[in-house]
Amino acid sequence: MNKITIAIDGYSSTGKSTVAKQLAKHLGYIYVDTGAMYRAVTFYAMQNELINVDDFNKEALIYQLPQIKISFKFNESLGFAEVYLNDVNVEKKVRSLEVSSFVSKIASVSEVRRKLVEQQQVLGKDKGVVMDGRDIGTVVFTDAKLKLFMTASAEKRAVRRYDELIELGDHVTYNAVLKNVKERDHIDTTRKDSPLVKAEDAIIIDNSNLTLVEQFDKIAQLAKMIIEGVE
Ligand code: C5P
Repeated sequence: MNKITIAIDGYSSTGKSTVAKQLAKHLGYIYVDTGAMYRAVTFYAMQNELINVDDFNKEALIYQLPQIKISFKFNESLGFAEVYLNDVNVEKKVRSLEVSSFVSKIASVSEVRRKLVEQQQVLGKDKGVVMDGRDIGTVVFTDAKLKLFMTASAEKRAVRRYDELIELGDHVTYNAVLKNVKERDHIDTTRKDSPLVKAEDAIIIDNSNLTLVEQFDKIAQLAKMIIEGVE
């Protein structure tokens, strides 16, 4: 069976990674969470004191980029690949609200984007990949056979992210999470390099009122039609 590339872009906390993981498992494809890569670079900047309150040392980060190694290792029991920073598992650490509040600034640095996009293109070069992010259908794999653009109201997304963070043991308030969701939307859609926009040929999935099962069925159906069409 021919393998295709599936690009899933969209706003923060629209459940991109949930559906991307389900779809990859269903199709026997690799799943690549590109947000985790930007988060890992942000975590590196935090650990190396390149971040100071709401500013960061861009020059030092660019200088240190060659020594930042991001990789993924499949975790059998979780059923997906976890992100590693210089060979240390940072999967949980990169999900904190602290990382979330800085990641969009780090992701606006062109040198960071160039490095990560190159790595993403290598990871997906053999197709059979579901990749989620903000610029997958517009920059990383413009020829992806299936492109989805996920959206939902900011309030619905904040509730989902809040629940996730509480589950991870983070002490956050709903309002702080909502503020972060809106801020990231703003930075991601207005940055100069690869802003979040819907690719012309992407299909919009508004999941404000869809259950996870309904959403998965809809997307799995689309993938099936396209995969059968390319045989
Ligand atoms: O997907 P996730 O919310 O984990 O992504 C974290 C942040 O990383 C986004 O808000 C965005 O600023 C950045 N990002 C990006 N391009 C991608 C994936 C994520 O700029 N392909």
